[in-house]
Amino acid sequence: MAEKKEKLSAFKALKLSFGALKLLWGKHPMMVVTKLCESVFHSLTPYVNIYLSALLIGELSSGRDLKRLLTIAGFIVGSELLISVMSKGIEMWKTYHITDIWQQLEKLYVDKFMNMDYPDVDSAEIQGLWSHIKQLKNWRGNSFMYLNNAVCDLVSAVTGIFGAVALSVGLFVSKTSTGSVIGAYLDSPVFILTLISVMVLSSVVPPVLQTKASGYRTRYSEMAKFGNRSFGFYFYGRHLNRAVDIRMYDQQDMICSVADKIPTYTTDSEIAKWARGPMGLLHVAASAVSGFFTVCVYLFVCLKAYAGAFGIGQVTQYIGAVSSLSGSVKKLIGTLGNIKVEAEFLEPNFQFLSIPNAMYQGSLTVEKRRDRKYDVEFRDVSFKYPGTDTYALRHVNIKFNVGERLAVVGMNGSGKTTFIKLLCRLYDPTEGEILLNGINIRKYDYREYMNIFSVVFQDFKLFSFSLAQNVAASVNYDSERVISCLKEAGFADRLETLPNGIETGIYKDFDEEGVDVSGGEAQKIALARALYKDSPFIVLDEPTAALDPVAEYEIYSKFNEIVGDKTAIYISHRLSSCRFCDKIAVFDNGSVVQMGTHDALVSDEDGKYHELWYAQAQYYTEGK
Ligand code: ADP
Repeated sequence: MAEKKEKLSAFKALKLSFGALKLLWGKHPMMVVTKLCESVFHSLTPYVNIYLSALLIGELSSGRDLKRLLTIAGFIVGSELLISVMSKGIEMWKTYHITDIWQQLEKLYVDKFMNMDYPDVDSAEIQGLWSHIKQLKNWRGNSFMYLNNAVCDLVSAVTGIFGAVALSVGLFVSKTSTGSVIGAYLDSPVFILTLISVMVLSSVVPPVLQTKASGYRTRYSEMAKFGNRSFGFYFYGRHLNRAVDIRMYDQQDMICSVADKIPTYTTDSEIAKWARGPMGLLHVAASAVSGFFTVCVYLFVCLKAYAGAFGIGQVTQYIGAVSSLSGSVKKLIGTLGNIKVEAEFLEPNFQFLSIPNAMYQGSLTVEKRRDRKYDVEFRDVSFKYPGTDTYALRHVNIKFNVGERLAVVGMNGSGKTTFIKLLCRLYDPTEGEILLNGINIRKYDYREYMNIFSVVFQDFKLFSFSLAQNVAASVNYDSERVISCLKEAGFADRLETLPNGIETGIYKDFDEEGVDVSGGEAQKIALARALYKDSPFIVLDEPTAALDPVAEYEIYSKFNEIVGDKTAIYISHRLSSCRFCDKIAVFDNGSVVQMGTHDALVSDEDGKYHELWYAQAQYYTEGK
């Protein structure tokens, strides 16, 4: 549960930060520009105030010339007005440009997921990385934007330092005028150098301590992975869609026990202990050093003014400027530390976004044959799912031709779905090869190859679009074809009851008039989608599992009509429904143990098919 993470080198942190900036600049340069402008503006405007206030106080405490006083007051009012108007203007300019960056950044991840090799989408490792990224986002916000803010802070710190130096130079160069011992001491270069050293140290030490304290949070992010997952499960209600099971099995206490066991956010957690111990001490030490520095500045400025180096007006200016100088230096160092810390959070994001598409994409065109003459051969194919040691398929040899109906039967876990996934190139075989018309399927253009298959998987999904768009799998569709496919799939009666026909929304996410469909209805729509695609191969994985017996009978009785001249591969547990197939492949433990027609297979009394057939048949025949 508590994993320890290796520290990121400064070089790698810098590289990741540049990468993040490059990405943001590429996505939205104006967002970066406007944010930078805002930072520079906000870092410089306080000095206008400090300078003009010092002038006013100086004039009040010495000359008291009314005309000068009014002029300074006029400048103060004018500058305040200008600054507040410009400040709002820049903020709005930035707000305008920043509005769509969130969407663009989120889209990066969605696009990545959509275009990733399927084995990666399905891999536990990538799913783990993805869930880690989501947890970090919940915890700290978007890392790219966080880094952008940090860079803006860096720029504002540097401009702030320039502004403060310009206003505080006089403090160090002006000489005292009383000729006293204190005055001589205050003017001596040694004293001034000592003071500057104190200033530098007290500006550097607090942010360094604070960065060290932040390091504890970074360490904790790795340790908190499990806790965050439990937190997400319980508090973001991932259990709520299981409301029926929770009630049926009285699982409330079981679910609530997860909340009690979330170690991440209790006072017993490591982070809480660190807050009370080393992390807390580091923060206290940082504040103490800052406080010490403020005392030094006040003392020095007041003593110098007392010794006649400058008037009361400059006292305000120098105290303001030196405090800002120290603030800006602290910000600069603190931000550099934050950038290093943030790079640790950027790392998993880049790791995810740079997952390569390693599957060979191929370039051969899949011949579009009028006669749909395709033959497929599995030649000694074995397969292990990534990250596993066991073979899901072992030495599979199968050949089937166009127009054939192939049934694939076998017990749960015997490898039927895996066989289909390999056929459709969702995965590549670990050993052996799959050939289409004698050519390894890896050589065909990936998308084109996928296009020759219409598959209805057991765990198919419909989307909250209209019925027609679901069937056509596209925003635009041919209404007549949609209706005819729905009818072929046995959806005609239900279609008549829909308020807006094929325009009716499925589910209610985007359409209040949308309808919920039953499992069986959804399966019919999925079948219609496969028919609409009109590919030479149609693959149906338990296509009637959710249908009632009447609907199932309807589908079987016109199966040949539905499939037409396509090659059909058909997975089913219900062996009686496979009888109409030309060939039946019997899978057992990842291997094809039998292949033949129903009659031939059922008569082989020692075969697996015979065993499966009679295991099912007894329920129908016992009563006779
Ligand atoms: P069937 O369709 O016959 O029920 P599958 O092809 O789904 O069988 O599964 C074959 C074997 O592969 C099973 O042992 C199953 O646990 C394993 N398996 C299936 N999917 C995955 C996966 N994504 N990762 C790891 N193992 C898997």
